[in-house]
Amino acid sequence: MYEKAILNEIDQNKEEYVEFFRKIIQTDSINPPGNEKNVAIIIEDYLKEIKIKTEIFPFGDNRANLIAYLNDNFNGKNLLYNGHMDVVPPGSKDDWKNPPFSAFVKRNKFIFSRGAADMKGGLVAMVIALKILKSLKIEVSGNLILNAVADEETGGRLGTAWCINNPLKSIKCDFAVIGEPSGLNPLPKAIFLGEKGHLQVKITTNGISGHASMPSLGKNAIYMMSEIIEKLDRIDEYIPKSKPPIEMDKLKKLIAVTFPSEEILERILNEQPMLQGVVQSLVKFSKALTMIKGGIKENVIPGSCEAIIDFRLLPGQKVDPIMNALKKLIEEDLGYIVKNQIFGSTKDICVVLEIFNASDGSYWNQWEKSQDLKEFYNIIETIYEKKPFYFLLPASADAHYLRNDGYCPQTILFGPGSAGTAHAIDEYIEIQDFINSIKVFALFAYNFLSKK
Ligand SMILES: [Zn+2]
Repeated sequence: MYEKAILNEIDQNKEEYVEFFRKIIQTDSINPPGNEKNVAIIIEDYLKEIKIKTEIFPFGDNRANLIAYLNDNFNGKNLLYNGHMDVVPPGSKDDWKNPPFSAFVKRNKFIFSRGAADMKGGLVAMVIALKILKSLKIEVSGNLILNAVADEETGGRLGTAWCINNPLKSIKCDFAVIGEPSGLNPLPKAIFLGEKGHLQVKITTNGISGHASMPSLGKNAIYMMSEIIEKLDRIDEYIPKSKPPIEMDKLKKLIAVTFPSEEILERILNEQPMLQGVVQSLVKFSKALTMIKGGIKENVIPGSCEAIIDFRLLPGQKVDPIMNALKKLIEEDLGYIVKNQIFGSTKDICVVLEIFNASDGSYWNQWEKSQDLKEFYNIIETIYEKKPFYFLLPASADAHYLRNDGYCPQTILFGPGSAGTAHAIDEYIEIQDFINSIKVFALFAYNFLSKK
């Protein structure tokens, strides 16, 4: 019975919501270094106006996490809305058509800015949904918990991971939504049920430096690196086989609900290598050489060379077997000594492996049995007037913290904006998408929390 009131409230206050959203976009929270406390204070002020209990947890230099609660009752069903406050740096400002933090509005239809899609749009929509439930004095038997986090763009250990291990630890979570942009243009909205993990490894080859006129007296570290790169594909044989959480055929069936038929989807996949690439990336482990650096002068045999390999892991796939496979390749196939770290300078010919960055993938196994998820799906379909589809995220997000250690396996990713525009130059969001997502978050929270 409150559905109409919720939708009316949103339609009447669109302009105010857009202005609040623009203010949050214009607030500096570039990570690194973070400065998320700037955003947390504005959210706190906004929620204070209607007496929503909000707690800010400061840390480091002007950084913070925030938690706000709809009410004081934690004995019913608890719904968690999570969104990160930090944004990635804009890169060169000159590459942007409009200044990256201007929150430029184009034709009353789009907002251009760093963070518009990833993910201040989703975060603000969740804040507003909480405010609406409170201001309409809707009676519910459960609780809505808003968690605005820091640090997502640099791994999330100080953000989502810290929150669920500290202030949220004692609060049971029955369902969680992370408001990351879940559009995959030109397709309708997706609901992400899983994410890939990643592992970035720094490889350093240590050779022997010398004069380029007598190469045989040195050991060329760039040649050592090229041997590793050339053999890199062989590690696939050394890694235990991992099954994707959803096989290719089923993935295609899941997207096919947004097309008139599976044949048409097949045709579009053949015509659109980009979309095909996304689908394929979800069913396999991948690796990419992303950086390389070596040599100090034109006439010196390079004594060291560094490279970064970026591995993308399937949910369930672990870091250790991949590191072991890399070690085996370098030691057994190429005959070099592998070390984990170099202490001081070394004259030994060796290869050093260091983990630069790592996070596990995650997947909600039981999603097909969830009535709550079906309701979420139906609300999106009603509001967006298009069937959404269930899918997996090719990149990684904070969901693994919620899902993997059992805090809340029933975590999904859904939010306004398109995943393709995240981290890109001229990042943007459609205003209608932003407004629609407020409706979805508010209606779902009302439905979910009204039930015993
Ligand atoms: Zn994000």
